[in-house]
Amino acid sequence: MKEGFNAFEMAQGQFDRVADLLGLEGGVRELLRWPMREFHFTIPVRMDDGSVKVFRGFRIQHNDLRGPAKGGIRFHPQETADTVRALATWMTWKCALVDIPLGGGKGGIICDPRRMSPREQEQLCRGWVRQVFKNVGPVSDVPAPDVMTNAQHMLWMLDEYEVLAGGHYPGFITGKPIGMGGSLGRTEATGFGVMFCVREAVRRLNRQLKGMTAAFQGFGNVAQHALRWFTAAGGKALCVSCWDGHDNIAYTYRHADGVDPDFLVSITDSYGAIDRGKAAAAGYEVLPGEEWIKQPVDILVPCALENQINADTVREIAGSVSLIAEGANGPTTPDADPVLQQRGIYVIPDFLCNAGGVTCSYFEQVQAAMNFYWERDEVLQRLDAVMTRAFNAMADLADSRRVYMRDAAYMIAVDRVAQAARLRGRA
Ligand code: NAD
Repeated sequence: MKEGFNAFEMAQGQFDRVADLLGLEGGVRELLRWPMREFHFTIPVRMDDGSVKVFRGFRIQHNDLRGPAKGGIRFHPQETADTVRALATWMTWKCALVDIPLGGGKGGIICDPRRMSPREQEQLCRGWVRQVFKNVGPVSDVPAPDVMTNAQHMLWMLDEYEVLAGGHYPGFITGKPIGMGGSLGRTEATGFGVMFCVREAVRRLNRQLKGMTAAFQGFGNVAQHALRWFTAAGGKALCVSCWDGHDNIAYTYRHADGVDPDFLVSITDSYGAIDRGKAAAAGYEVLPGEEWIKQPVDILVPCALENQINADTVREIAGSVSLIAEGANGPTTPDADPVLQQRGIYVIPDFLCNAGGVTCSYFEQVQAAMNFYWERDEVLQRLDAVMTRAFNAMADLADSRRVYMRDAAYMIAVDRVAQAARLRGRA
């Protein structure tokens, strides 16, 4: 992460710009500019060596005017309150844009699960729930997985919640394992959602997806499934990059014939780190992490963290790139946006592009409420319908008002939440 970068300042800056475009009045503007509620707490965990380590946890609820706060929990050694604030804010816009009845929240713990045993991680998950138990729940705030958290973490958290609540509350958390209240299709939902948007964008650009090339940053949940869909649709990904937890740097893995998703997944750990030795032995070039952005491809798909396409790196993007699909949250900084706009690169903004995850989480809640679970095809068809509708609404507005795609997405989302505030009499 670049020194001095503050994701929440970025989220507020994006909001201010759109509040101006929409002419939002003072009260509602101030209300939507800030999280409505924040929890910061400590989580003591007895480690395997007998010592007690104290971790810092967060849950930040940005807005619940359209429904319960909704958003993932991130485990990361560089987690900050401002990152969680930004991610919570983006969740509000995301849910509003795809028009599901949920608000925005986000959680986090400053930790490195790669260096913790499963028992220590379980204690951490249970400790997080104990600290926020009274302030979260199916009708108030519903967590989910994010970076370095998975279905097992969600189940430990659900179990702790249900022990405290004294009953079954599968709607408390989403991203649960299949058979334990999880929805088929949830694992691949975010990555596939990214690609449903890419498919629609390519259609609007009057191009054919088959034969197009791409470069991916990140090789975790989002990127793996996006890459699989893209390859199955006839696209060719020239490289993926990921973080190497041993060397503490990122590498880019490139293959001139196109990377093989199944092979790469088979040599990737649960944190999205590719085994460098095995990749090299299989003929992959191992390049510095930042090389992914310089590749002469049609599509860039950032699926790692914030602040990856910024004022410096945007200049490295090859002339061939015509489309950027933001799988990650906040990968592009506001100072890079004008350059992309000027170059005519079609940007699918993050809070639409990666909304497949929360949309499927919403389906998971619906299924839990009915206690009846759909087939995978039904889940993915419904997901495709929601993503396609939201994409087209945004793209139509961008065309008709001649505004940048990110601004169009923000205009729809912020207007919906502002309208909810006015209707409820809160602003
Ligand atoms: P993950 O933990 O499964 O994977 C993250 C990947 O990014 C890993 O491969 C990691 O090695 C890589 N990475 C980290 N730092 C890097 C760097 N500097 N350079 C290159 N690679 C780097 O996480 P995920 O769930 O795939 O989430 C990725 C992004 O998508 C995040 O921004 C997250 O907030 C967002 N997102 C995730 C979901 C979801 O359902 N998982 C939904 C919406 C948005």
